[in-house]
Amino acid sequence: MDIVLTGTGSPIPDANRAGPSTLVKAGDTHILVDAGRGVVMRMTGGGSMPPFLAAVLITHLHSDHVCALNDVITTHWVMTRGNATLQIYGPKGIAQFVERQLHALEPDIGYRIEHHDPLTEGPKVEVTELDPGDSFAVADVSVTTAATEHSPVKPTIGFRLEHEGSSAALVGDTIPCAGVDALARDADVYVQTVIRRDIVETIPNEMAQDILDYHSGVVEAAQTATRVGAKRLALTHMVPAPTPDQYPEWIARAAEHYEGEIIIGDDLTNVTV
Ligand SMILES: [Zn+2]
Ligand SMILES: [Zn+2]
Repeated sequence: MDIVLTGTGSPIPDANRAGPSTLVKAGDTHILVDAGRGVVMRMTGGGSMPPFLAAVLITHLHSDHVCALNDVITTHWVMTRGNATLQIYGPKGIAQFVERQLHALEPDIGYRIEHHDPLTEGPKVEVTELDPGDSFAVADVSVTTAATEHSPVKPTIGFRLEHEGSSAALVGDTIPCAGVDALARDADVYVQTVIRRDIVETIPNEMAQDILDYHSGVVEAAQTATRVGAKRLALTHMVPAPTPDQYPEWIARAAEHYEGEIIIGDDLTNVTV
């Protein structure tokens, strides 16, 4: 599998980092996990496009993780000439979120149906709401889920994807918890959204302080990776986003708690497992 970090940013705008999303390419099966700012552009950079997607998996409904889902839906619809159904999986609430997206897109859907003969109806979307612990298959990829802990955001869900003996844990925004441990156990790569707790603590801004209690720090991600025996740790959604000259310090901090390979994600970093 190729795990392409299509968006390594956070809610904070960044010229070089799209919003949170990860593209998994398991042979010809392409699966998108989350759909943050700029995702369709970055998917193209990662060798995919919405019509190639077998499924979209959503970890939670925080805006930074879903704000470009409308672009995925519309681009999938137009590029498949309305003939394919986009599969979307997510926690409870995703069905209403998608329904409202489609409602917001109604003017555009109307224009395009009127203007393009092949388009006779709106986007075909099939939404599956998941309970933690659900497992299912997307083509030849098996997906397992578990509850994560990002309170007060509820529900949140993490994913483990397995294909031909390889595994990747994509757990989204969460503090360390049993669900993350289960998903990341012995994984070939454990992808964790992180903050630098020591830096964020010094930011004199109330809203910055608020994020401390619902994200994994770099140290915690490294401790989780060690505890579960993950073979690689990929850091993404880093707050504050490091510049490349700061990567060695980030890696050193994680390496105090984890002996495996540590990857600092850039947009389009590709991890092959
Ligand atoms: Zn979040
Ligand atoms: Zn986030």
